[in-house]
Amino acid sequence: MLSRRLPTILPPLTLEESLETTRIYSAAGKLPMDTPLLATRPVRTPHHTASAPAMVGGGTIPQAGEVSLANNGILFLDEFPEFMRSILETLRQPLEDRQVTISRSHSSVCFPADFLLVAAMNPCPCGYFNDPNKTCKCHPQQIDRYLSRISGPLIDRIDLHIEVPVVPYRELRSSQDGTSSTDMRQKVLDARARQRRRFDSKKLMLNNQMTGREIRKHCVLDADCEGLLRQAMTQLGLSARAHDKILRVSRTIADLDASEPIQPQHITEAIHYRKLDRQL
Ligand SMILES: [Zn+2]
Repeated sequence: MLSRRLPTILPPLTLEESLETTRIYSAAGKLPMDTPLLATRPVRTPHHTASAPAMVGGGTIPQAGEVSLANNGILFLDEFPEFMRSILETLRQPLEDRQVTISRSHSSVCFPADFLLVAAMNPCPCGYFNDPNKTCKCHPQQIDRYLSRISGPLIDRIDLHIEVPVVPYRELRSSQDGTSSTDMRQKVLDARARQRRRFDSKKLMLNNQMTGREIRKHCVLDADCEGLLRQAMTQLGLSARAHDKILRVSRTIADLDASEPIQPQHITEAIHYRKLDRQL
């Protein structure tokens, strides 16, 4: 449900993004006859049996894969550990470079692959680990094997790890509304406007594109925040990449909060999203 709602809180496509997405679909022969211009962010949901060429692109005449069809949109991988590990590993390069290069003997083709990766997984093969109502029947070794299908370096590249507990039926049916998508999208647009003003350049638009130097410039921490981050790094044994991710994410949480300084609650929330680093 979360991944289906995600496009409704993302900013509308710019004309440039719209043209780029349309070109990819057109070249792949996937542009609907009655749609000259794709105006909504694509959501791709490949099955866990998808092959490597289907995922990242390939073929004698190079064709765009799911990562490129999801460009400017969302790539949703359900049952994440069920995908072949070799295929999951091929995602690392596009996640890093935001494009894929398909090399052939005489030439190479480059496709954009700037997508938001959303992945879902069970806590164990049977799905009931930590469930308050049902008993997990998995052996600890089975759980280890299941979780280890996702490599550390891949987990490292994912910004937010969230545990979604079972929602009791009465809460599911509760009439109390949370934040609506319209309100949330406005918050996202405001946060992005703050980022544009901060970077004031065409090249750099978003917090997650900040380099090490920009992080030091725009994510200045006071002594309290510094202490929290140092403690998390040593206690949880986080990587340097996770350290920078926490800073970028806390900058974004502060932006959503319309706060210029990063405050302790922003750092704490960002650290909380590194949950899987501790388990895998
Ligand atoms: Zn289980």
